Amino acid sequence: MRHVIVAANWKMNTTPADAGELAATIGARTREPDVVRVICPPFVCLAAVRDGLAGPDVVAADGSGVAVGAQNVHHEQAGAFTGETSAAMLAGLATWVIVGHSERRRDAGETDELIGRKLRAARAAGLRTILCVGEQLDEREAGRAEAVVDAQVRGCLDGADLAALGVEDGLPWLTIAYEPVWAIGTGRTARGADAAAMAVRIRATLAALGMPGGGDGVPVLYGGSVTSSSIGEFLAEPDIDGALVGGASLKPDEMAGIVARAGLTAAARRGPADSGSPAGPAPLAAKTT
Ligand code: PEP
Repeated sequence: MRHVIVAANWKMNTTPADAGELAATIGARTREPDVVRVICPPFVCLAAVRDGLAGPDVVAADGSGVAVGAQNVHHEQAGAFTGETSAAMLAGLATWVIVGHSERRRDAGETDELIGRKLRAARAAGLRTILCVGEQLDEREAGRAEAVVDAQVRGCLDGADLAALGVEDGLPWLTIAYEPVWAIGTGRTARGADAAAMAVRIRATLAALGMPGGGDGVPVLYGGSVTSSSIGEFLAEPDIDGALVGGASLKPDEMAGIVARAGLTAAARRGPADSGSPAGPAPLAAKTT
């Protein structure tokens, strides 16, 4: 069964002085045992967020809490890459990472091939990884949205060398966020049914790439102007497993509403027989081979 995940992308917002308190507030207001929660602050705020999330108001008695994620990672392990951060440098700071966000594709010129190398670096370091894909508005209007996303998934994963990523194990460290570019930060959202159709297409692509189980084990999130009001439309779709939230993730009230709604979906998916088992994914080991 796939986990229900709500990941917060704070983008270039907050400072080390205020990020810990904001994270603690959000963590305390989203104590939903069935939902995997992740906060991805700017690099310079990772330590503050980690520390802010470590308090008893956030960490539940069963040890479950909010994970910390980075918003990007470099594809090399070390070297002359001014201003960059490697996966190894995230040890002790983050257990998740976002790669391939459309703002990095747009502003930093990231290609599918480069994102694939980031995936491999993240996997090697044992990071859970959210791979972002999504079409532009003109591509959707031209009826090419699914073909574009299919090509992105293939481009990122092929570039990363599927054998090295361990595709035969079903890539348990991988989550894919479908984020139509025209919906990010615009207040426009996709239709739940369209996002679900894209999730089905993404899993078909994963199956075509050799993923066992037809890609069924890989969570697919929706991202693009999600709020506490709109999240329900996406979580009503069985093929959507949560959300990557940008602007609304800086607002504790919004996060409380989004995670509460996600909790209803997670509990319904688990069913009564399962009610005692923990929600969070098992820890990942770094891949050494
Ligand atoms: C994002 O940054 O991934 C995102 C979906 O942003 P927003 O929710 O603000 O559209």
